[in-house]
Amino acid sequence: MTRRQTVSVNVGGVPIGSAHPVVVQSMTNTDTANAEATAIQVAQLARAGSEIVRVTVNTREAAAAVPEVVARLQEVGLNVPIVGDFHYNGHILLREYPETARLLAKYRINPGNVGAGQHHDANFATMIEVAKEYGKPVRIGVNWGSLDQQVLARLMDENTRRGSPKSGTDVMIDAMVVSALESAQYAERLGLAHDKILISVKVSSAPELWQVYRQLAPLCDYPLHLGLTEAGMGMKGIVASSAALAPLLIDGIGDTIRVSLTPEPGASRKLEVEVAQQILQSLGLRQFLPQVTSCPGCGRTTSTFFQELAQKIQDYIRDAMPDWKANYPGVEDMQVAVMGCIVNGPGESKHANIGISLPGTGEDPRAPVYQDGKLLTTLKGPRIAEDFQVLLEQYVERRYGQGVGV
Ligand code: SF4
Repeated sequence: MTRRQTVSVNVGGVPIGSAHPVVVQSMTNTDTANAEATAIQVAQLARAGSEIVRVTVNTREAAAAVPEVVARLQEVGLNVPIVGDFHYNGHILLREYPETARLLAKYRINPGNVGAGQHHDANFATMIEVAKEYGKPVRIGVNWGSLDQQVLARLMDENTRRGSPKSGTDVMIDAMVVSALESAQYAERLGLAHDKILISVKVSSAPELWQVYRQLAPLCDYPLHLGLTEAGMGMKGIVASSAALAPLLIDGIGDTIRVSLTPEPGASRKLEVEVAQQILQSLGLRQFLPQVTSCPGCGRTTSTFFQELAQKIQDYIRDAMPDWKANYPGVEDMQVAVMGCIVNGPGESKHANIGISLPGTGEDPRAPVYQDGKLLTTLKGPRIAEDFQVLLEQYVERRYGQGVGV
């Protein structure tokens, strides 16, 4: 895959652009004014792999809490860049809370939400002045739900004068691109450096997301923040985000991604980070943790043992990763196979670093384990799962210990 060429933008020590891996980011859903709850969630997201975390800064209380959020994170050794999400009153809050302006790694500005009429440019300019003062980058974050109405009205007018007018959707897409680019150009005229600007143009349907990013991508070399806005809940949100982001990433479009999932009630926010990582890993763009290849199972696997083992190994790897990452460089490239029977099991296991094929219905109660393409042993008895876990741990130590796997 060839990435669309962009400048590099440094966001609190995390470089974003075509010269760097695609960055995973996320956003909290706590009340930022509650510094403790916000810091806890930022830490969860960062530990799950979010390389940048955005928090909403919507009130004076939220703006006042940002320094405490940052301090709490630093106390536990987390230096993840915190981005401030501003709408309507960013120009006031950034001026009133200079310590917050100094500590945030980036400001998200929505040109549709910075005020109307004569206030629009003045408010936008104030935020850019603060960004210049503190040397911060900004994301011009256009969203179709809050599109700049002046730009849209102008383009609608132009469209009605055409011989063959475009569809309403096409004009809206045009307006998003124009709003983003005109805002970025205005920021540069105000003195913000070219490499301090990122752009996003988010919509909530995959085909329109492809259209708007493909239209924007050739018109500038700003890094692009990619995401399907309001993706939804659970499986729908995961599938919609994957379907939306993958074609653009394959085309080299997108330098940082966020998966905007609505969490199930009571569920952890970090699922959106895991999904973002899995999208990039499935496309071969980044490696975050070893991949477990498991077959879907069929009538040859009548017990749930196979599904439980696949789940156990997947959970075991995810839990072990923080430690493995620190001690076993390269372990994220490892492939593990957990297969349901001998039809495809040994073949798939041989392609993996280490793999097991469980006995299918009617097969001998034996589970051959392959390592680096060769039969290592055959496990038997009631502790096959535990025995395989031990073999996996030994493999990781031997293969990736002391930098062997680098
Ligand atoms: S490997 Fe065996 S159990 Fe798994 S899907 Fe294929 S035939 Fe079924």
